[in-house]
Amino acid sequence: MRLILLGPPGAGKGTQAQRLVEKHGIVQLSTGDMLRAAVAAQTEIGKRAKAVMDAGQLVSDEIVNQIVSERVDSDDCRRGFILDGFPRTLAQADATETMLAQKGMSLDAVIEIKVDDDVLVDRVSGRYTCANCGAGYHDTNMKPSVDGVCDKCGSAEFKRRPDDNAETLRTRLQAYYKETSPLIGFYYAKGMLSSVDGMADIDDVTAEIEVVLAAV
Ligand code: ADP
Ligand code: ADP
Ligand code: ZN
Repeated sequence: MRLILLGPPGAGKGTQAQRLVEKHGIVQLSTGDMLRAAVAAQTEIGKRAKAVMDAGQLVSDEIVNQIVSERVDSDDCRRGFILDGFPRTLAQADATETMLAQKGMSLDAVIEIKVDDDVLVDRVSGRYTCANCGAGYHDTNMKPSVDGVCDKCGSAEFKRRPDDNAETLRTRLQAYYKETSPLIGFYYAKGMLSSVDGMADIDDVTAEIEVVLAAV
């Protein structure tokens, strides 16, 4: 199964992708995670991407297209993958079609997670992840069952993203509306788009996504 999760920053793409990974045994390909790993490793790509990401702008199509194309060739992607945060521009959507066709692959679904803008500040400013395994949490919406201990791996170390603040979120939202939201029409016109209510509780969003997947 190959899917795209679409939605603004804080919509719940990463949260839902982690659940799909566990349930379906497919991998999560988050371009944000890949770029943050490149920044941490101080690779050439990471050095070029850091300032752009900190400012909440989009990294160039050329860079992200290439990292996704290389990643998709890995063995662990054979059973399928979830594209989380990619494609994010019409040029990336075109490149995705070409790339998948060249590899003899096709998409099964594009799922848009719809949320109201006014919850996004709270979603991103309360977001944190386990520094060891990457599991996602939220200050009020999704706390670990034991305070300060990751449910998945038991680590007590957590981290927050430098771009998860109200000011950078404004730039990221502008980028979403200008560059990414046209993808909704793009995939709708191809008959591939399904939308789920991202304002619902996390479990209910997961259930709605499973209904969509059962139909593809
Ligand atoms: P995205 O990957 O789309 O940017 P995340 O999955 O990281 O978004 O979610 C952003 C934050 O909101 C996280 O802290 C997550 O725990 C929380 N969250 C995700 N989905 C929901 C939901 N349906 N209701 C409430 N909080 C949510
Ligand atoms: P969120 O889910 O909160 O929107 P991501 O982790 O997907 O955040 O992305 C973080 C940042 O990484 C973006 O603001 C952007 O600078 C960069 N980025 C991630 N994916 C892409 C992409 N497909 N194209 C361009 N830039 C990207
Ligand atoms: Zn953990």
